[in-house]
Parts: sequence; structure tokens; C-alpha cells
Amino acid sequence: MLLRMSNLFLRTLREDPADAEVPSHKLLVRAGYVRRAAPGIYTWLPLGKMVLENVARVVREEMNAMGGQEVLLPALLPKEYYEASGRWEEYGDTLFRLKDRKGADYLLGPTHEELFTLLVKGEYSSYKDFPVVLYQIQEKFRDEARPRAGVLRGREFHMKDSYSFDIDDEGLQESYDRHRAAYIRIFDRLGLEYVIVSATSGAMGGSASEEFLAVAATGEDTFVRSTESDYAANVEAVRTPAPAELPVEGLPEAQVHHTPDTATIQTLVDFLNNTVLNDAGPGRDAFTEADTLKNVLVKTRAPGSEDWELLAIGVPGDREVDFKRLEAALEPTEVALLEEADFAANPFLAKGYIGPKALLDNKVRYLVDPRVVTGTAWVTGADKTDHHVIGLVAGRDFTPDGTIDVAEVRDGDASPDGRGTLYTARGIEIGHIFQLGRKYADAFKLDALGPDGKPKRVTMGSYGIGVSRAVASVVEQSHDDKGIIWPREISPADVHVVGTGKGGEVEEALRIGGELEARGLRVLVDDRKAAPGVKFNDAELLGIPTVVIVGRGLKEGLVELRDRRSGERSDVPVGEIVDRTV
Ligand code: ATP
Ligand code: MG
Ligand code: MG
Ligand code: MG
Repeated sequence: MLLRMSNLFLRTLREDPADAEVPSHKLLVRAGYVRRAAPGIYTWLPLGKMVLENVARVVREEMNAMGGQEVLLPALLPKEYYEASGRWEEYGDTLFRLKDRKGADYLLGPTHEELFTLLVKGEYSSYKDFPVVLYQIQEKFRDEARPRAGVLRGREFHMKDSYSFDIDDEGLQESYDRHRAAYIRIFDRLGLEYVIVSATSGAMGGSASEEFLAVAATGEDTFVRSTESDYAANVEAVRTPAPAELPVEGLPEAQVHHTPDTATIQTLVDFLNNTVLNDAGPGRDAFTEADTLKNVLVKTRAPGSEDWELLAIGVPGDREVDFKRLEAALEPTEVALLEEADFAANPFLAKGYIGPKALLDNKVRYLVDPRVVTGTAWVTGADKTDHHVIGLVAGRDFTPDGTIDVAEVRDGDASPDGRGTLYTARGIEIGHIFQLGRKYADAFKLDALGPDGKPKRVTMGSYGIGVSRAVASVVEQSHDDKGIIWPREISPADVHVVGTGKGGEVEEALRIGGELEARGLRVLVDDRKAAPGVKFNDAELLGIPTVVIVGRGLKEGLVELRDRRSGERSDVPVGEIVDRTV
């Protein structure tokens, strides 16, 4: 069936929607692919629905090819299962909760580990039944704190979620690897530029996990990449070698330039003033060269723990640590004062400076407040050129193996794989694969009888793809100032045939469209009564990869063939256009 714009349920807009900030949001609305129904809730119009279905088709084909079997679970779920797993509480405000007429609690599924575990438990019981991979493509519901950017972060959105069930760890690893390979094929086919980063597991629980991030400046995730290798990681999970002990003299410029945002500085200053120090002096937001800094060593231990942890707290030299106040603030953690050491104004010139290595060797952690911030980095104050030291700031949290978990990696840090240096970039999380292990199998006692007749706990993986988010991610990466540029695989049509003029051009456009369709292409024909300029603009906005213009040249037997991405145009004899386009 030819798609004819004269009756297609489509109205393009000239203006960007007022609430839109990122390109994909603006363009998907302007081009009539989606319409906002409520905050974070969107309607898919005919062309949008086609794109969404195309993404779903690619996902489905690759999931089937890797051995997945498609099912469809309900989105409306009783509370009890999520209570059993602990997620009724864990999910907090993100969960959409509702009651039925009898007052029983329900929720709208944000992700379906519980239900899939129970599904498999209901059907399978022998080790011979495993492994199995089940998946669905379904609307998910999350009451996001900040729904934003149109369908990029919706409160109702489309997700492909799959779950693997295996008898042992090797099986899980295999299922995980197969998913990973399928995801690579899927995102390649969608034409996305992406990186695979190691990630933390978040609310899902479990251990190994990797995220697929579509590279985009508008993305909400920050990741680091190496300049010289494939290494990439979400900043939440980055491990980078600890820098060498800071030199006593002449700290390299790069290490000094770490300026936290003003909010962080304020948090630190407030904490020092209100929690650590006595009331003897005014607060300050920067140190001068004339100031002294002293380190106070304390040891702490969590309630019930045997192990003391050493902490160093940097404070201005002319202020006293109010130990009682500190103890009260850290309660119920036990605190004991060890020693105070004076430091010269410039900590980099100071003798006895507690550098990272010393901290590691002594298992000392440099700390302001374990709940607020931990770290060892000296920072510059407001006046960057003078390297005024404000005290301490987060960034680096040293682990005993000499690596650092960083919340913020600095450009130029060494790559953990020893190849190249790191730089930060931003991305959109389009997929996430987890080795869940036995968290849900334990919660629901999912066992399989082994060959020895003994029950064996099943181990699981869970794997998500943001199907609706992927649509917007493609647009983020593939557009220009005139509109969207679809990769053919997910475009709502292969060819957009535009007829302009009143001398039979529209009829010819319909004829060509019909022929192209007969040759297996998906065709959109602009057969509207509208000015050529309007039609050309819409063709660019809609973003179908190949455009055929049947216009003025028809009198000489020519039509124009345009490539949306490159902008290349050529005149083609009418009789050849079908062969040239197919
Ligand atoms: P994010 O970090 O962006 O909030 P998430 O880590 O909470 O995502 P997962 O629980 O890993 O998301 O869900 C699997 C996939 O579902 C994500 O990788 C993402 O592509 C997609 N997704 C998650 N939340 C949303 C949302 N609010 N709108 C659209 N897609 C989403
Ligand atoms: Mg989330
Ligand atoms: Mg995430
Ligand atoms: Mg995730």
C-alpha cells in the first residue's frame, strides 16, 4: 500500500515545541512522528509507529537468531511478587503503584525479573530444560524524577527485556556473551555509533554488567574512553591506577587543575565549618599561600565492625578540630583521634604530605565526610592561577589494590589497560546487560533437579534495550539543521517521491511510486496540493533516505534523485528512475 501524504495522518510543524531542548525531541515532534500526551508520555503517530516497529523488528530478528523466544507478560502486576524480591520498597517513587477495586496493591511493571523467574519456575523443573532465554517487547512504566527530551526518557516507554536461565556459571557466561554479540548486531543494524562500557549494576542487583551507550553530547551518561585502545567505562565503574605519590615539589600543572563546582566547594566548606571545626573563626572558601593546613588523623569503625579505618582530614591550620562535634556527626560510627600534623601553606611543598601512596600503604583514607565526599585531591580555589587550596574534595576513592573508583575522571588520566590516556565523553544508555546471578532465583526458590536428583539453584541474566529510546538516539546522531536522516533499516519508507506542479507531475509521482513498490520498496508519495517549497522542506524534515522529485524537469523527461544524507542530486531519465532507485 502506497503511503500517500494527501491522506496520511500527519501534520508537520514549523516551530520547535516549547518544551524541547535536544534535537531528537524537536525533530520527532516537528516531523509528526510523536506527540506529547502528558509529561514523559507520548503517542506514536503513523510514521513514528513504523520506525518504532522497525527497531522492534531488528531487535526481534537478532533475539530470535540468538535463540531467544518471545513472550508477552502483563504490565499490570500484583504487589506480592515485587514485595518478595524487595523491589516494592527498593524502587521507591519510581514505581507506578495503583489499587484495584478491592483495595489490593498493584504496580505497572518497570522491568520484569520477578515475573520471568516465576514463569520459568512454573514450567521447568529439570536441568535438562535449561538453558532458556525468554524475551518480550513491551511498554514499561517508571515514574522518572525528570522525564526529559521526549521519548529519550519517558515515564512510559518501550523496552525489549530478556532473561536467561542457566544451571551454572559457565552457562550464564555463555548466555551473557550471546546477548552481547546480539546487541552488537542490533545496534550496528540501527546505524548507531556506540561504545560498550563496564557499568555498575544499580537497582537490578548482580555482578557483571555492561552498558551500550550511544555517543551523543546530549546524553545523560558520562563515560571515559582511551585515546589508544577500546577501553571504555561508565564513570561510575572506572578503575584507573592510582597516580604516583604526589611529588613534594612542583606538582604537575594538570594535577592541580581540578576545580570542583561551587556546590561541592560549598558542601565541603560547610562540612568543615559546621561539623569538623570549632567556632573560632570564620569560614573560608579558599586558602592563600600564607595559610597553613593541617591534617588530622582519626580512625573510625562502623558499628559492630572489628576493623578500624584510618582517615585524614585536612583543615585550616588556625582552626581546631572539634572532636566531639565530629564524633556526633559521624555517629554511630566510632571515631578516635590519633594525631595532628602541621603542614606548610602549600601542601605540595609540605613535608609529610599524605599523598595517595602513603594513604594506600597505611590504609589511610583522606576524608571529609564518608557520607558526603571522600578523596585526596587538592583543589584550586576560585583563583585558579594561584592554585589556592580549598581543602579536600571528592574525586578519588582509593581502594586497597591501588586502583581508584572515581566519580569523575580527569582527561589525561592513564587508561587502566595501560594503553593511552582517558578522556570523558557523553552517551545515551540504549542497552544494558547484567549477570544477575541468583538474586531472583533465591527470592523465588527457582531450582532445577540435577542429574544426581538433587535440586540446583538456577542462575540468571537480564538484558534490556530501550526500543523507543533507540529511535530518539538514532535521531540524535543522524540529523542536520533541516531535519532527520534515517538509516534505511528503520526509516518509515525507503523512498519519498515528491510530485510538484499541476502538469501531471503528481500523477507521474504516484505511478513511479507504484512501480517502486512493485519492486519491493516501501514508498511515501507526496501527492498533496501544496507549494513545492513546503514539500521539499517536509521531505528534508521527515528524513527518508532517498527522495525522488517529479517536477519541472518532467517536460524534458527528467526527474531528480536526491540522497538525503549526502545531499547529492542528479537528474535521471524517467524511464530509468526505478532501476536507479531500487
Ligand atoms: P537510565 O540510566 O537511563 O535511567 P536505566 O539504567 O534505569 O536507564 P535499565 O533498567 O538498565 O535502565 O533498563 C534497560 C534499558 O531501558 C536502558 O538501557 C534504556 O535503554 C531503557 N530505558 C530505561 N529507562 C528509560 C526511560 N525512562 N525511557 C526510555 N528508555 C528507558
Ligand atoms: Mg533509570
Ligand atoms: Mg542506567
Ligand atoms: Mg541500566
